Amino acid sequence: MATLMNFMGKEEVIHYDSKIQELHGNQGSKARKLVRDKLVQDNGDGTYRILPIQGYNVSEYRVDWMAQSCTCQYNTTKGLVCSHLIAVRIFRGGTE
Ligand SMILES: [Zn+2]
Repeated sequence: MATLMNFMGKEEVIHYDSKIQELHGNQGSKARKLVRDKLVQDNGDGTYRILPIQGYNVSEYRVDWMAQSCTCQYNTTKGLVCSHLIAVRIFRGGTE
C-alpha cells in the first residue's frame, strides 16, 4: 500500500508539472489577447487595470508593476506570474 501511495504521489507531481507548463503557454496567448483587445489600461501611477475579456471572465484585475503583483486568484494564491502581469509587460513594450 505504501508503495502504491508513493507511486501515485509521483504521478501526481509529474501531472502537476506538465499542467503548469500548459498554463504558461495559455498565459502567453491570453496576455497577447489582453493587449490586442486594449484591455490593459495604464493608471499612470505604476498600476494597471486589466479589463475582463468579453465572454471569458467578468472580473477586473489590478496589476502593481513595481510589486509585480496582481489581484487575480492565480497570482494571489499561487504566487505565479499570471497573464495579467505578462500583458502589462507586453503593454510596456517588453516581451513575454
Ligand atoms: Zn493576474
